[in-house]
Amino acid sequence: MLSRRAAQLPPSSTAALDARAKQLAEDGVDVINLTGGEVDFPTPRQAREGGIEAITRGFTRYTAVAGIMPLRQAVAARLARTWNAPCAAEEIIITNGAKQALANAFATLLDPGDEVIIQAPYWVSFPHMVTLAGGRPVVVPTGAGTGFKLTPRAVAERITPRTRALLINSPSNPTGVVYDRAELAALAEVALEAGLTIVSDEIYGDLVYDGTAFTAVASLSPEVRERTVTVGGWSKTFAMTGWRVGFAAAPPPVIAAMTALQGHTTSAASSISQHAALAVLREEPAGELRRRTVALDERRRVLRDGLAALPGLRLAVEPRGAFFAFVEVSGAYGPGANGQMIDSAAAFAEHLLRTARVAVVPGADFGAPHHVRISYVADPDTLREALKRIHDVLATLGGTITSPGR
Ligand code: PLP
Repeated sequence: MLSRRAAQLPPSSTAALDARAKQLAEDGVDVINLTGGEVDFPTPRQAREGGIEAITRGFTRYTAVAGIMPLRQAVAARLARTWNAPCAAEEIIITNGAKQALANAFATLLDPGDEVIIQAPYWVSFPHMVTLAGGRPVVVPTGAGTGFKLTPRAVAERITPRTRALLINSPSNPTGVVYDRAELAALAEVALEAGLTIVSDEIYGDLVYDGTAFTAVASLSPEVRERTVTVGGWSKTFAMTGWRVGFAAAPPPVIAAMTALQGHTTSAASSISQHAALAVLREEPAGELRRRTVALDERRRVLRDGLAALPGLRLAVEPRGAFFAFVEVSGAYGPGANGQMIDSAAAFAEHLLRTARVAVVPGADFGAPHHVRISYVADPDTLREALKRIHDVLATLGGTITSPGR
């Protein structure tokens, strides 16, 4: 009954593991869930009150497909500050989360067989989104040698007459890597020379640590901005994953095409969520956001330092943004306590969940079969407890622990 396209589409592995860990917790198991893509902070008061006000005032009907004008204007004003250049509401579409902004972007940019360059490790949904839009993901592996970053040369080598777009995700899910301005400028130069569009997923742009500067791709130059679709939203910055509201910013003809597409598929984002999103932009809780970033940075350090003390595991790269640590686990491979062989990140993650009750995401679906992603979305004490449990499990792993690649 299923189309080939649907039959080939696996469910999201991150969502599946998150659901499994949540189910275990509901069953009374003391599981520490570090799989998630969302922080444990509450949605700010401004947004909650904005949503309630929308309901009580009856702001509960279809809105314009591209979103209510005050919200498009507020997003444009926020981007203008980041870009240090004016931005118009016509350059903005409000979507059902950043995910829909990405899906809209690929559906409007790609013809069948068009190629999109994506670096591995990648966020699980990127290749599927490209495939669903009829395109072909061209995956470029990156590793410790380049700090898990794409180089202009690696991109240039993959460009063919069918290449249509370059995807950039900084700060990155799953590695936490943040590109600096010069690195982005060098990548943009290659993309522009080849006439590519840059799709820049900047959903984690507000979450950077340790003095790291976030650079928006569209801020590089007017020429780069002309060729860039920026994707962002409220999910991560404002802890609003359940509200399903995000945006894309692009030249007006691209926004017009995305709006036409969205009009025939899902229509506008929820009127209530748009109102909440507007309320939090109108009265940004800057102090609260800063405190949250400081708290995330503390968690990041606890995890990073704790991992450094674990034999067999190695932080692949220092995370400087988002809330993920990407960890190489091949040094811990060997026979488990009950005889089964731990020989992949998937087997390692499964073993960890069963024996230590710590849930992490294996990297195969991120294009990295010997790594796991650990989200630092729990408080420092919980992270310390998770590290202790992992330590105890490692001690039982066949005594074959080695230091990967050192
Ligand atoms: N892009 C990246 C890199 C993500 O990690 C996520 C969420 O996990 C999204 C986009 C989706 O964001 P939203 O919840 O706003 O759809």
